[in-house]
Amino acid sequence: MSPTSYRTAPPRGSDGKYTTLAKRLSMTRADLVRLPKVQLHCHLEGTLRRERFRELALHHGVDVGLRGSAPLAEAYAFIDFAEFLLLFRDVSSVLRQPADFAALAADYAADAVAQNVRYAEIFVSPSVWTWFHHGIDVEATFAAMRAALDAAQATLGIQVAFICDLTRNFGPQRALETAQLAAAMRPYGVIGVGLGGDEARWPAELFADAFALAREHGLRTVAHAGEAAGAESVRSAVELLGAERIGHGVRAIEDPTVVELLARKRITLEICPTSNRLTGAAPAHLPHPMGALDAAGVLLAIDADDPALFGTTLVDEYLEVEQTLGSDAVYRFAANAVEAAFAPAALKARLHAELAVSRNSGGGVEV
Ligand SMILES: [Zn+2]
Repeated sequence: MSPTSYRTAPPRGSDGKYTTLAKRLSMTRADLVRLPKVQLHCHLEGTLRRERFRELALHHGVDVGLRGSAPLAEAYAFIDFAEFLLLFRDVSSVLRQPADFAALAADYAADAVAQNVRYAEIFVSPSVWTWFHHGIDVEATFAAMRAALDAAQATLGIQVAFICDLTRNFGPQRALETAQLAAAMRPYGVIGVGLGGDEARWPAELFADAFALAREHGLRTVAHAGEAAGAESVRSAVELLGAERIGHGVRAIEDPTVVELLARKRITLEICPTSNRLTGAAPAHLPHPMGALDAAGVLLAIDADDPALFGTTLVDEYLEVEQTLGSDAVYRFAANAVEAAFAPAALKARLHAELAVSRNSGGGVEV
């Protein structure tokens, strides 16, 4: 079976509408843990374990208030977006030195392996590091993370590449500089650039030069869009930036012509259900638009965004897919993630094969 054959539209009934399989497979959490996974939308800084956060705060003498003294489960508590930004500030404030990032990367790899993540393209935000800590040695930080991840690959088998986030809020000039930096960091496994941050106030067109520069240096391109702004922002990310994948993209659902564009160009959306509800990108009181986007033929992959900060895991996000769309969607989305990865063809073929073995070996029971 050719890899592209995995990227199929969902089954449709005679009326053309999405339908579930007659015999639905029910996958348990253990089945979903065993599912071989590719991770495409996860911010490394957002994976910082609570324990490690407190350890680093103590080590560096950073006062993180109640986050340092409340019960561990409440260390990352927030009630609204303003508080979430303060949490993000606190997390960023304790990541100060290359060794901190090495520990973060090693923890990430261990946690990812525990969920059977086989390959990851993970976001890092060097312009945020330097904004919080002017003196940080960025190249030494990449080198430290690379060493930690190479050690994880040798012992645990996971492969991790980096995508540098250009971060809209710092403006186009800084984005250009970060794209240049990303190119210089290729020896440490940087393979692309992304674009997170305040989408509503910093539209895509401001970053066209930075994306062009990244491409000239052989970097791949992705962009967050359709999260804080509407469908037009998704169209801009595709048409003006040439983004090859879209982070979230859920608000594409507001414009059928953008949905059609995504389906036609076979652009994968990296869907993070818990994040979408917490940020309001997908209203919590309505079904998540992933079902409608999937039914419209848009390729979807599932991810966790900032799992530690949002109190979720990649397995939890897949569990939501299983419970709302069924196991066929779980396997389809997992295969889409493999296909949308920027990994070498041989690695992708191996990952597709692992997924096929997982499916054939009964990752689920008929109900
Ligand atoms: Zn994100």
